Amino acid sequence: MKIEFMGAAREVTGSKHLITTRKGTRILLDCGMYQGKGLETDAMNRDLGFDPREIDFLILSHAHIDHSGLIPYIYKMGFSGTVLCTPATRDLCAIMLADAGRIQESDTQTFNKKRKAQGLEPVEPIYTHLEAEACMGCFISVPYHKPFRIGDEATVTFYDAGHILGSACVVLEVKEGRRTVKLGFTGDVGRYDKRILRDPEPFPQVDYLLTESTYGDRLHTSLGDAEQELLMAVLDTCTKKRGKLIIPSFAIGRAQEIVYALNRLNGRGLLPDIDCFVDSPLSVNATNIMRLHTECFNREIEEYMKTDPDPFGFGRLQYIQSVEASKALNVRNKACIIISASGMMEAGRVKHHLANSIDNPRTTILVVGYCEPSTLGARIARGDKKVSIFGHPYEVRAEVRRIESLSGHADYNELLRYLSCQDPRRLKGLFIVHGQADAQEHFRTTLTEAGYTNVQIPALRDAVEL
Ligand SMILES: [Zn+2]
Repeated sequence: MKIEFMGAAREVTGSKHLITTRKGTRILLDCGMYQGKGLETDAMNRDLGFDPREIDFLILSHAHIDHSGLIPYIYKMGFSGTVLCTPATRDLCAIMLADAGRIQESDTQTFNKKRKAQGLEPVEPIYTHLEAEACMGCFISVPYHKPFRIGDEATVTFYDAGHILGSACVVLEVKEGRRTVKLGFTGDVGRYDKRILRDPEPFPQVDYLLTESTYGDRLHTSLGDAEQELLMAVLDTCTKKRGKLIIPSFAIGRAQEIVYALNRLNGRGLLPDIDCFVDSPLSVNATNIMRLHTECFNREIEEYMKTDPDPFGFGRLQYIQSVEASKALNVRNKACIIISASGMMEAGRVKHHLANSIDNPRTTILVVGYCEPSTLGARIARGDKKVSIFGHPYEVRAEVRRIESLSGHADYNELLRYLSCQDPRRLKGLFIVHGQADAQEHFRTTLTEAGYTNVQIPALRDAVEL
């Protein structure tokens, strides 16, 4: 069989890997969107490099848009196969893809206004929220550890990757005549000893493995410190400076982790008496889905829920849905915490909060996740003093802080620990995907030193016979 790397090759977004079996069955691993490259992104997303009508199965590792975001697009372009993922991933995709569709519609509207002024024809959104809703009919959910037959050649099994709710490492077994090829795909790998989700779990020995490498060159601080760092940011900003603490956050996963951390601090009487807002309709819906999928929770939160049945809610916390209530936060002068998407600060309501408060020294912007280098989030995180938001220049007078340890991705030591379930001598090939080139090179050296051989960093559209 053959594997072709159709995205997230030497970069972190656009995850897509195409497998073609000897009999001609075409299986796509993930169908993610490219993000954060401005105008270039749209063209990259439309140029798939394969015919969606020829895809028989799509195996989805998790719901993040850089892994799932082009499913509605391939559906629109004629894909009529089956999407396989875990039940929680399916539920998250139902809200996230529709949300992505709405973002495409509104971005295209803005873009078309500019085009009209230049006398140019309007363009279509890559897909609409209605197309996103329609594609959900292709989904079948498969629980962790249940081998699922696809066609008469292959079986797929999901193992918990501990990254976000429902995230999975994929093990695909393909029969080709007398031999069976086992291929593993880590998807995104989470950290160990987290507050809500389980650790990434070991998976059976495979012949070939695709591993992520987002933090292939970095080590995080321990998770225990994150709660303390969060508390210090709250006290310094809200108590000392009487300012706003803005926490740009992925709507899924990170937002709930921060709310749970605040909830715990509040329960211990450490949180000052200030208002907390989760201002992101997607986070609100995701939190509700999280409440439904306690089967993905770890022991610690199960224990916690015996005394506090709602880990994602407490007295001073408000979830904000309406645009009016969101706008009201802008004119608010009191100290408060605002958790809002998107995490890379490229879209969503957080941009309004930043535009409103970034030039105020009383504000703190707390960066809690990975930001693709070309994004607004990355520019703010690296300390740029002037940034552009909605096309207007702003001076960054706000304090900028980072909490690395809340990352949803394992660092390279954690990745090594995760991969230690595999015997390097039995791995015929290890492909590093989903990472920036520098991180990948560093990770290749680390893997080689740890005894892995035949470690490759495929380029976009590279094809390898397995
Ligand atoms: Zn992810």
